[in-house]
Amino acid sequence: MKTFRDHCRFRTSVGGVLFCQDPPYEHGLCRFHYEAYLRGELLANGQINELLSDQDRRREINRHGIREQPLDYILE
Ligand SMILES: [Zn+2]
Repeated sequence: MKTFRDHCRFRTSVGGVLFCQDPPYEHGLCRFHYEAYLRGELLANGQINELLSDQDRRREINRHGIREQPLDYILE
């Protein structure tokens, strides 16, 4: 039942296929995304809670752990 991953299972909505590259901390999430999960900003499936209306926070969550990828284009 347990699938080993060497990275956080949060998948950014930017591009749809980019995973956060931080190492897993708890629940398959890195520490940053696990804490976001505890705050209810992430759902149990690892996606951002649609009820989170703070766009800056959403962007921060989306960008965390994503490296080697120019994401400036998502900044409006
Ligand atoms: Zn993460």
